[in-house]
This record gives sequence, structure tokens and C-alpha cells, in this order.
Amino acid sequence: MKLDPCTRCGACCAAFRVDFDRSELASATPRGVPDAFAVPVTGTTMRMRGTDEARTRCCALEGEIGMEVRCTIYDRRPSPCREFAPYAPLGIGDDACARARRRHGLLAL
Ligand code: SF4
Ligand code: SF4
Repeated sequence: MKLDPCTRCGACCAAFRVDFDRSELASATPRGVPDAFAVPVTGTTMRMRGTDEARTRCCALEGEIGMEVRCTIYDRRPSPCREFAPYAPLGIGDDACARARRRHGLLAL
């Protein structure tokens, strides 16, 4: 069985701002994004902590990009993460996935 390439990548978690609606927070919905992992952007929009810093990296990402990584809140990650490059785990990337990987010196899938 071929390994999910995302478990050896993580580039998208350290490349883009990750914004989502406040209604996805754990304080608003069961099994939502833990509030401490996000910062407010506007009254209704939250952002994953770390994703708008100069050295972009989501605070929920564990491990070394391009080697072995893990989202520590995988089952509770926000919708942009759930919707990003949906076929990448099968080895089929898209433009955004390729852009994120390039930023970290990785070839497109
Ligand atoms: S979606 Fe693409 S950039 Fe994100 S972890 Fe998977 S392979 Fe890497
Ligand atoms: S919540 Fe998880 S999947 Fe989403 S950017 Fe952070 S580490 Fe990546």
C-alpha cells in the first residue's frame, strides 16, 4: 500500500493563511476547532494561530515538513483544511498543493 503523501509533507499547513467562520470553534459547535488554536480576525472570522506570521506555520502542525508531519487536531480541523487538495492523500495534487510544496522545496505530486 502506498503511503498518504500528506503524512510526509505538511507544506500547506505552513504556506497559507487558514481562515474560517467562528461557528466552527469548539465553543460554538461540538468537536469544533479548539478555541486556543485560533485568533480572531474580524467579528465572524477566525484564523489558525501561526498561519499569518512571517514564518507561516499552523500551531497545530507537529513534525518536520517534507519528512513526517501530523495535524494534532486532525478530527477537529477547520473546513479550509478539510477542503484543501482533496485527492492529495491519494497522490493527486492540484495547483495550490503544488504551490505550497514548491515553497518548501518539494516537487509537485
Ligand atoms: S495537500 Fe499537498 S501540500 Fe498539503 S500536505 Fe498534502 S501533499 Fe502536502
Ligand atoms: S489545522 Fe491541521 S490541517 Fe489545518 S493548517 Fe493546521 S495543521 Fe494543517
